[in-house]
Amino acid sequence: RFQKIESKELQTISETGGVGTRILVFVRLRPMAKREKEAGSRCCVRIHNKRDVYLTEFATENDYLRLKRLRGRHFTFDASFPDSTTQQEVYTTTTAELVEGVLQGRNGSVFCYGATGAGKTYTMLGTVNHPGVMVLAIKDLFFKIRQRSCDGNHVVHLSYLEVYNETVRDLLSPGRPLVLREDKQGIMASGLTQYRAYSTDEVMALLQQGNLNRTTEPTRANETSSRSHAILQVVAEYKVREGGNLLSRVGKLSLIDLAGSERALATDQRTVRSLEGANINRSLLALSSCINALVEGKKHIPYRNSKLTQLLKDSLGGACNTVMIANISPSNLSFGETQNTLHWADRAKEIRTKAYDVKDELLPVPESGNDQAKLLLELQKEN
Ligand code: ADP
Ligand code: MG
Repeated sequence: RFQKIESKELQTISETGGVGTRILVFVRLRPMAKREKEAGSRCCVRIHNKRDVYLTEFATENDYLRLKRLRGRHFTFDASFPDSTTQQEVYTTTTAELVEGVLQGRNGSVFCYGATGAGKTYTMLGTVNHPGVMVLAIKDLFFKIRQRSCDGNHVVHLSYLEVYNETVRDLLSPGRPLVLREDKQGIMASGLTQYRAYSTDEVMALLQQGNLNRTTEPTRANETSSRSHAILQVVAEYKVREGGNLLSRVGKLSLIDLAGSERALATDQRTVRSLEGANINRSLLALSSCINALVEGKKHIPYRNSKLTQLLKDSLGGACNTVMIANISPSNLSFGETQNTLHWADRAKEIRTKAYDVKDELLPVPESGNDQAKLLLELQKEN
């Protein structure tokens, strides 16, 4: 069982006096791959006490010098998962609490960050035999809904989208690119499929199909592009009738499989700018810029610089419980990537999200005659 640090440590007082929380950051080490073994690689990562990560060996002398400049080879995270960690353990430690929060009307988001091949998609989507965080979260959400005996009804909607090359696409219903629109509730992709989910069984197949719809690199026909970001949004709405009013509570969980980080290594603003002209992932760079600005407490956070950061604005700077999972390979052949991922993750620990105003309360929703009739029907069906 992984022990997270005391929640007292995580709470910070926000400018408005409310309680805010910092982003929780986890590291997951994957097992050594066959091709890495065959290439004669050694393991260069050690995990101690399920929290501390040590870089123990270097690929080259150059790596050693770079590491010295980065001050140390030891990092501490909220939890660090050795390569024997199961999907369920990763889910329980990182995401289970966020799912509970979603049912109380709190938004949550989980990001997987790391180089291509480090295990992001395995962690998020997983396989049929080892389903990942996306599937386990939905399963748990349905389980928690069934556990609650209540008068109202819960509706769960899923949408799954991709940001590739600054174009947003619907992974559940591929077609023309989607346009982002901003309204009072935030940014949304107009026309995005909202899939009403009734059970977990259908979800894995749906997500796998969605993943097949992710953009592939032209030169590697069967492989998913390492430059595509996939975002699964799970919206849980609870509606109940009370004293003639229709009340509702909505919570959103965003689960994000980011593009490979290998070409957006910049952790400081100057490098970010010098890379901007080059052919690299604009959305990932913009994410780095936003994180830098948030860590430095800047007033202006450049969310508008990319599609990804526009979509994730709420998740980074808004009232949201945010979790980052940094995926790393054990091989010394990936030493540079691993070091960069750990450095980036270490920095992400400093981000604080806004305090929550929304509590576990139901808000009146404007209802049309149509809504009323639909709700009554749904409530009847439930009973
Ligand atoms: P990424 O999405 O970061 O590019 P993948 O998730 O596709 O990387 O992982 C690369 C390969 O390693 C895949 O074949 C995947 O099944 C395997 N893999 C990744 N993490 C694990 C793990 N924790 N346990 C077993 N296999 C893993
Ligand atoms: Mg992947």
